Amino acid sequence: MINLNTDIQYLKGVGEARAKVLKKDLDIYTVEDLLYFFPYKHIDKSKIYLISDIHSQIGSIQLQGRVSRIETIGQGRGQRLSARFTDRTGSIELVWFKGIRFLKSSLKEGEHYTLFGKPILFNGRFSISHPEMEKTAADAVIEKGLMPQYSIPEKVKDKFVNSKLITKLVEIVWQLQPQIPDPLPSYLKQEQNIIDLCDALKHIHKPQSEDWYKKAEERLKFDELFNIQLKLLFQKHIQKSTIKGHIFGHVGQYFNRFFKELLEFELTEAQKRVVREIHSDVKSGLQMNRLIQGDVGSGKTIVAFFAMLMAVDNGFQAAMMAPTEILANQHFEGLKPFADALGLKIYLLTGNTKKSEREQLHQDLQNGVAHLLIGTHALIEDTVQFDNLGIVVIDEQHRFGVAQRAKFWNKNNVPPHILIMTATPIPRTLSMTIYGDLDVSVIDELPPGRKTIQTQHLYDTQFLKVYKFIRDQIALGRQIYVVYPLIKESEKLDFKALEEGFWQLYENFPPPKYHISKVHGDLKAKDKAFEMQQFVKGETHIMVATTVIEVGVNVPNASVMIIESAERFGLSQLHQLRGRVGRGADQSYCILKTSHKLSKESRTRIEAMVNSNDGFELAEIDMQLRGPGSIDGTQQSGMPFDFKIAKLTSDQDILQKARKAAEKLLSKDPDLNALLKQWLKKQLQTTIDWSRIG
Ligand code: ADP
Ligand code: MG
Repeated sequence: MINLNTDIQYLKGVGEARAKVLKKDLDIYTVEDLLYFFPYKHIDKSKIYLISDIHSQIGSIQLQGRVSRIETIGQGRGQRLSARFTDRTGSIELVWFKGIRFLKSSLKEGEHYTLFGKPILFNGRFSISHPEMEKTAADAVIEKGLMPQYSIPEKVKDKFVNSKLITKLVEIVWQLQPQIPDPLPSYLKQEQNIIDLCDALKHIHKPQSEDWYKKAEERLKFDELFNIQLKLLFQKHIQKSTIKGHIFGHVGQYFNRFFKELLEFELTEAQKRVVREIHSDVKSGLQMNRLIQGDVGSGKTIVAFFAMLMAVDNGFQAAMMAPTEILANQHFEGLKPFADALGLKIYLLTGNTKKSEREQLHQDLQNGVAHLLIGTHALIEDTVQFDNLGIVVIDEQHRFGVAQRAKFWNKNNVPPHILIMTATPIPRTLSMTIYGDLDVSVIDELPPGRKTIQTQHLYDTQFLKVYKFIRDQIALGRQIYVVYPLIKESEKLDFKALEEGFWQLYENFPPPKYHISKVHGDLKAKDKAFEMQQFVKGETHIMVATTVIEVGVNVPNASVMIIESAERFGLSQLHQLRGRVGRGADQSYCILKTSHKLSKESRTRIEAMVNSNDGFELAEIDMQLRGPGSIDGTQQSGMPFDFKIAKLTSDQDILQKARKAAEKLLSKDPDLNALLKQWLKKQLQTTIDWSRIG
């Protein structure tokens, strides 16, 4: 008897040597691993074709017939073996360029064979090169059905482990009739119209028909997506049922004074809604884990500040963490006047905070003198201790991983509320997976009066047009960003481009009339901050920069974004960069400059940018173009994307189904039955702390 956990070595036909290869090179340790080693395609051996049926569009087929006229042609490297293959309807040439010696001794003229191969038309005649040959009786019935093909690296094939072996091993497993428990309750399978696990595993390898294959594929995709959803929802469920949160019970004077006396504009309806959502979280007694998704410029910072004031009103401290120093500075500068007006002590902590200041700050945080702390990830350094940290706001989360989020947990016994903000819109399917353990709020409305940014595509050769445009805009009192790519592999080249670009601009926009700032990654933080400040204060007209300004920077008077070598940026990055303008009341523009040579994909990206201002729509296009794994925010999220069979780009429907099913199952069986738990644990190597559930 075997079961799923049986070591692969004990399967008939494996043995020690092959077992080693299976384990080391293919990660197949057990019978279960073998069954989950899915074929990448099938070839159709369900019927025998006739030579007269062959046409130029035909794929790989089976033929039956007799071999004749075996001969070697040519010399040395160009040598090949040729043979005739004849059935009752005609004949065709077979050729081999390799393994000639072996074939010459094994192929017999006049014998019957069943072959498998792909006929190709060459010089008006069909031939098949390197067909698979099997000696069979003249009237043999060879109907093998859809035969699986496994993707096996060349180096492994040399060790006698190939598609055929895997096919055979899988067949052996089925002959032994292993027990395959199905963790999905039958009501769920019925409801979702999906087949049994055992059937799915059978038909994924050797389907009885195309239709069966589809059903098997759907079940296994469902499993992968369902597992993740179940894990995320389960985690959320545990969090909600076991992790207490600070209670910010009342809305107090700080919140109210800020809202009534200091806020200079009316909140948008979306902002109000999200503030309410946060409020209902933080007064509930459970820990908040909320994500705010909102396109660039939708006004997330103010919403976060309201949340921070809720903490302070209830005697807690609040922290905000930004991904870059520039951004941390900007948040600090932006919020300090409000804090001052309210009589709250606000501090800035970055890698550049002086030691003496840092010590004072540590003290004030620990004594509870400091109310608000803004910083970079210097903020999660272990030496920082709070007196009573109530909430952490994490801006632009896609630079922070789940693990870093967890670091706040050591700061207090009751964990602080977590509010994450991201302007990187990601497709819903992806956010369901990456942020599945978070509650999501969406700010889907821009502050009033914003004009749509006009985006135009220009070629590098049209620089005169660009200069004129810059001149006109500066004359109108606006400021301009010019952004250069900076990508690790070609850092030197990129840097040169930035320098050259700077000097060209300098020649065309010389002082004293014009002033230009320059910011790039190699500048000292102090110099960077200075250059940035010059631009923020309107002392400089043009900001030449690399993507360091990508995230969050807010200069409302800057109304033109010129992106050099735009073809080298990803869509979400382009959208982020464009989001730096259009923040004031003026009409804003984005110019995407490229060379004349554009790949098809680059062109699609540029066109998408010209045609759409909607971050979510662009994220969707980006995912279709590049696949989910390369979307910003996914790499560091710590979620498994190496699905064996599911594809987030095309399996959105299955994902929706899986999510709903997981929700329903959890509501029926919140503690999960043992089988499901085990299944989850194994398939996801889950990080759930099982001791918590007791
Ligand atoms: P993001 O969501 O990209 O982080 P910010 O929070 O930086 O956006 O806000 C962008 C700009 O919009 C800021 O100058 C901010 O003061 C302003 N703003 C935010 N909310 C409103 C509003 N309701 N009405 C007018 N301006 C607003
Ligand atoms: Mg922001």
